[in-house]
Amino acid sequence: MNNIAIVVHGGAGAWELGSKRIRVGRAACDAAALAGHAVLKAGGSALDAVETAVHILEDCPALDAGRGSYLNKLGQVEMDALIMDGRTLNLGAVASIQRVRYPISLARRVMTDTEHTFLVGPGADAFADQIGFPRCTIEELIVSSDDDYEDAPGPLGDTVGAVAMDAEGNLASATSTGGTRNKMPGRVGDSPLVGSGGYADNWTAAVGATGQGESIMKVVLSKRVCDLVSDGLSAQAACEAAIRLLEERVGGECGLIAIDSQGNVGIARNTRAMPYAFVVGMDGKLKNGQ
Ligand code: ASP
Repeated sequence: MNNIAIVVHGGAGAWELGSKRIRVGRAACDAAALAGHAVLKAGGSALDAVETAVHILEDCPALDAGRGSYLNKLGQVEMDALIMDGRTLNLGAVASIQRVRYPISLARRVMTDTEHTFLVGPGADAFADQIGFPRCTIEELIVSSDDDYEDAPGPLGDTVGAVAMDAEGNLASATSTGGTRNKMPGRVGDSPLVGSGGYADNWTAAVGATGQGESIMKVVLSKRVCDLVSDGLSAQAACEAAIRLLEERVGGECGLIAIDSQGNVGIARNTRAMPYAFVVGMDGKLKNGQ
């Protein structure tokens, strides 16, 4: 029996420390880590745990995924998500999806219900309708500025993510985002790109990334962390080394979470903050930070 573990994050975005938004984001991370841990403790799979955790983060109005997603230049919500199974390397992803409350679950349905791995835009919308996936109105996704979840506008989003290891030693990763604020319509960042926004391989690690998608995708950041673990680094050392590499090679700000195949946790960032929470072990206690 392996040690179970889950780590979640609420984005390496433009946080103002001490703001209402970061308090609400941190509380959502705590709730997400505990919910994912409960799934693992009950014998659930790493995939179920990360999907459950990301649902809670997608529901949080202070985080840039599902409800609370940033708007593009046309005032629309276009969301991206990726889920990956470290046991089989199966994955599912969606990009530029609209009017869906839980994009991570649609990504999972792409993985399980199609012969493809990645659906975008109108094709992803058509697939959602074809399988009777629940749709929502754009109003349900947009958070009113009266709710006071706005920190100083920054270039980054507050993408959410989760990585987990289940009792059988299987790893999984899930990432969901509304992308960057005021983006061009059709812009897709790193989040749904396998290897960039996330990666999971039982042989090495499960990883989730957040930050400047345009930089992250240039160095395929999440897969880099897995490769560094394969070279012998711990999850923590690999996250730190990957961020140094991003800085030196292309510049850019990001955050990373990881669990390696031994169940060790890694959490690193070079941004001002990244709310996170994790639980390791059957009877592990919640730990968190920003
Ligand atoms: N990586 C996301 C994107 O570029 C944004 C973020 O993580 O803050 O879409």
